[in-house]
Amino acid sequence: MGIVVENVSKQFGSFQAVDQVSLEIKSGSLVALLGPSGSGKSTLLRLIAGLESPDSGKIWLTGKDATHQSVQDRNIGFVFQHYALFKHMTVRKNIAFGLDIRKTSKAQAKARVEELLELVHLKELGDRYPSQLSGGQRQRVALARSLAVAPDVLLLDEPFGALDAKVRKDLRSWLRRLHDEVHVTTVFVTHDQEEAMEVSDEIVVMNQGKVEQIGTPAGIYDHPATPFVMSFIGPVNVLPSTSRMFQGNGFDSAQPEIFLRPHDVVVETTPNGVSVPARVKRVINLGWEVQAELVLDDGQVVTAHLARDRFNELKLAPQQQVYVKPKDARSFPLYYSI
Ligand code: ATP
Repeated sequence: MGIVVENVSKQFGSFQAVDQVSLEIKSGSLVALLGPSGSGKSTLLRLIAGLESPDSGKIWLTGKDATHQSVQDRNIGFVFQHYALFKHMTVRKNIAFGLDIRKTSKAQAKARVEELLELVHLKELGDRYPSQLSGGQRQRVALARSLAVAPDVLLLDEPFGALDAKVRKDLRSWLRRLHDEVHVTTVFVTHDQEEAMEVSDEIVVMNQGKVEQIGTPAGIYDHPATPFVMSFIGPVNVLPSTSRMFQGNGFDSAQPEIFLRPHDVVVETTPNGVSVPARVKRVINLGWEVQAELVLDDGQVVTAHLARDRFNELKLAPQQQVYVKPKDARSFPLYYSI
């Protein structure tokens, strides 16, 4: 196992930031810690790094008990949201920093820096200073610098959080490709579910200091364990189970609420078996798909996502009468609440 976190808790004053968290991260995998602001993701990452010490529990890194090890002894690479590059050093010098501290021979350090410049696609920019780089390029330098010392574990705290949406998207797929080349056990914090889904092998969903669910992106999306996970990982309609929409079509539930993804709302222009009438309130073009806000007979508002082709076929417009039914839906035991 690359990282094992065993029953770890951390309190700040009376606030429980991390609450009895246990998880295992396989060697060589890329795992996202995903959750809303304040859910304890960064604190958990800092506990793994040794930047905070746990009140209780244990942390194992590559099979060794690291709970009381110093940051320096953990052989960890760390990249923060805000570029922590040395302004007065060139890209090459920045990348070589950890190697110089470890007194790596000049020839070895030079070779390693060139290898990393190649890896992060910055070969042409090695002699520039951080101020002469874009935000995305700086984060790639920060990554190269953290990889230089061949860490056992790479920890990334919202590494692309300060970048604009397009650069962020490019860097995500770049990070995935980079990881496929270097295979270092990587944990990265994000509050962006799309980023977590696209980049990681596994996602740890956190809420209020606890782990809500651990699984592959597809596993978590298709089989959310709690209402929180279902709502956080993608858009969802939450409807009373008494809604006519769920009667007689196999979605009857003893639970008060039923959770329905917008793409699981089937929209038709003619009644069809168990479908119920609705009126189109608003149509929003989302690019490759279309969002339709529908009002059921009982006043419930349901959001549906339709592929563009299907939308064109139905020719939906505000005020139009349509018929809807659920394709898939989910309910959760009563003791869970969002
Ligand atoms: P964000 O995405 O906003 O960074 P997060 O999920 O990473 O959120 P943490 O940074 O781990 O959350 O913080 C969890 C909670 O612990 C927050 O309420 C925060 O205010 C609190 N906290 C974190 N560090 C400290 C500290 N050093 N002293 C006091 N409270 C802290």
